[in-house]
Amino acid sequence: MINFNQPHLTGKEAHYMYEAVFAGKLSGNGRFTKACQAWFEQRYGFRKCLLTTSGTDALEMCAMLCELKPGDEVIVPSYTFVSTALAFLREGATVVFADSMKRNPNIDAETLEALITPRTKVIVPVHYAGVACDMDAIMAVAKKHNLLVVEDAAQAIDSYYKGKPLGGIGHLAAFSFHETKNITAGGEGGLLVVNDERFVRRAEIIWEKGTNRAEFFRGEVNKYGWVDMGSSFLPSEVNAAFLWAQLENIDDIQAKRTALWNRYHERLKPLADKQFFTLPDIPDYASNNAHMFYLVLPNLEARTGLIKHLKDNGACAVFHYLSLHSSPYYASRHDGRALPECDRYADCLVRLPLFYDLKMEEVDAICDLIETYYR
Ligand SMILES: *Cc1c(COP(=O)(O)O)cnc(C)c1O
Repeated sequence: MINFNQPHLTGKEAHYMYEAVFAGKLSGNGRFTKACQAWFEQRYGFRKCLLTTSGTDALEMCAMLCELKPGDEVIVPSYTFVSTALAFLREGATVVFADSMKRNPNIDAETLEALITPRTKVIVPVHYAGVACDMDAIMAVAKKHNLLVVEDAAQAIDSYYKGKPLGGIGHLAAFSFHETKNITAGGEGGLLVVNDERFVRRAEIIWEKGTNRAEFFRGEVNKYGWVDMGSSFLPSEVNAAFLWAQLENIDDIQAKRTALWNRYHERLKPLADKQFFTLPDIPDYASNNAHMFYLVLPNLEARTGLIKHLKDNGACAVFHYLSLHSSPYYASRHDGRALPECDRYADCLVRLPLFYDLKMEEVDAICDLIETYYR
């Protein structure tokens, strides 16, 4: 059976974890944590980076930093992972679901303005499959209405919008290093990115349970205490050590994933031209970080048939999100608007196996199976 996903080891993970263990400093914010954070700040020009225990945690920090009051509205796509909405709901906000675009599952910037009310405080674009949302349009709407933008860049490491790194455009952003993402911190992990100077100090405090410890250790204040809200968002040094091994190899990881992605694209294009399905859409303004290869089929039956055919022949392909606005928990918190594009992706999108250790021959075998199915 070809798995859908398999975490990749670059080779030095255990070595760095061993180093962390024997350095005698295992709690957060040690040498590996600082190295990872500095790596992101230097490579992508992010103002301030803080490692977290998950992408969900990074989103929760974003939501806390937005200082929402009950009744404040946050616009999120409905076709996303639950944490995009959950983080803001936990802070007492009302979540307003936006539809996806026709061309790809990203939030439709053109329909945003109609969702804005005097209570709107934040827009949360999700860069689905690592492909950029139309950030110029989104930032323009945010500026006009004085809103914050939090990028859910969980899938978007090493991806760009008009040459700007994703995660570096909104006021705040969150990345994930879950084992299903391009790089992992040993199963679970995340990163908060602060681009707006206003949030830097408070982000550090929230990260460390509401204490000003970071300032204390830098010698900026002469005692530390409990100065704000917060939680324990720091990962252990062992996770940071694992992540460091992956960051050192990011160019190799990205090149390999891109080669596999390109092979899928080249092999499946003739079938897409015959309209059996559509291929991933990468707008001119976006780069491709090869996070995901997906097909959009014409309807639910067609998708169910293809997934079964692949499974019966030894390849695991999977569908993705069920729209949040029609899920048991969020349906009662939704204002009832129809979101037809989200529903279409929920019914029709299928993801093919894509991971570093997948072999080119396995991609070919999967493409052969798809060809046979449509012959
Ligand atoms: C993976 C993911 C998350 C959550 O990240 P975790 O590290 O699993 O908490 C949030 N949003 C999106 C879009 C994701 O793909």
